[in-house]
Amino acid sequence: MSALVQPRLINEPFSDPGLFVDFLFGRRALLFDLGDLTPLSPRELLRVSHAFVSHGHMDHFAGFDRLLRVCLHRDRPLHVVGPPGFGDRVAAKLAGYDWNLLDERSVDFAITVDEFDGRVLRRFQFREREAFRRREIEPPSLPPGLLLDEDDLWVEAAVFDHGIPSLGFALQERLRVNVWRDGLERLGLPVGAWLNAAKRAVRRGDPDEADIAVDEGRTIRLGELKTHALHIAPGQRVVYIVDIAGHEANIERAVELSRGADQLFIEAAFAAEDAAIAAERRHLTAALAGRIAHAAGARRVTPLHFSPRYLEQPGLIPAQVDAAFRAEASSPKRSQGRVSDSAKDV
Ligand SMILES: [Zn+2]
Repeated sequence: MSALVQPRLINEPFSDPGLFVDFLFGRRALLFDLGDLTPLSPRELLRVSHAFVSHGHMDHFAGFDRLLRVCLHRDRPLHVVGPPGFGDRVAAKLAGYDWNLLDERSVDFAITVDEFDGRVLRRFQFREREAFRRREIEPPSLPPGLLLDEDDLWVEAAVFDHGIPSLGFALQERLRVNVWRDGLERLGLPVGAWLNAAKRAVRRGDPDEADIAVDEGRTIRLGELKTHALHIAPGQRVVYIVDIAGHEANIERAVELSRGADQLFIEAAFAAEDAAIAAERRHLTAALAGRIAHAAGARRVTPLHFSPRYLEQPGLIPAQVDAAFRAEASSPKRSQGRVSDSAKDV
């Protein structure tokens, strides 16, 4: 995994699903789903800037209270994203407590809630200073499919059918461009804001012949700068998909979202022989999870969210995912891919 983001499952695969994505720099973390968060320390939860919640079933959302308890009185805001109607869910959670001691002198902790339905359609804000009264505010002007758009990464989402809408997420790091100071000195160039323009040019894929302005009257070829003073590494793609029915429309969408994933975390609730139960509960089988990973060309797949009916056979689901993932694997990329035993991963 890249140096910047490190994803790990919060629980073992028979417990609540959820992914904790830690950033090595910047004292920040992201959460995908808010089920049982017990294994995460308060210090880790305090780093969470954004929590992306697939849907409102309890095993994906019951941990909201713990996150709130730890983050209450924090000066940095908390951003929560969920499917349509999610503002009501958060409002209902907040209405479960007395906030009479909060007023305008309280810390300005704010919870922003975005509802995603193919694009972010509604945004709500709950401020500690306003005793967490709900306010609807202007939604961000993000393109369809996007939840978050930052300098170093973006987060995409897709809406799946799980009887109710369930969101799947993809965290995509941008091309990482680091400046090598020794190289810069050797070129006789100063450190400065101009380097940001150079980094943007690299991320845009500008040609090596492009001239980058250093200061007045001085330019350098992007290619020369890249050779001597920039270290460029590809961004990682981390995908998290849980609680989706195993029909073709969902599978197609899941393959699309998972395309090129370095790590795919995907539910594999039921064994292949229990496909009828999986269909009834609107979950994936292990075979379908592996098929999605294979079709998407994922480098690595980590299955999670196993039904407790397989507790006595903990290796059954991973083996079925693995078999489907490797099926017809012919390209070198795929044969290098692997299924990780999520029980060992955490
Ligand atoms: Zn569910």
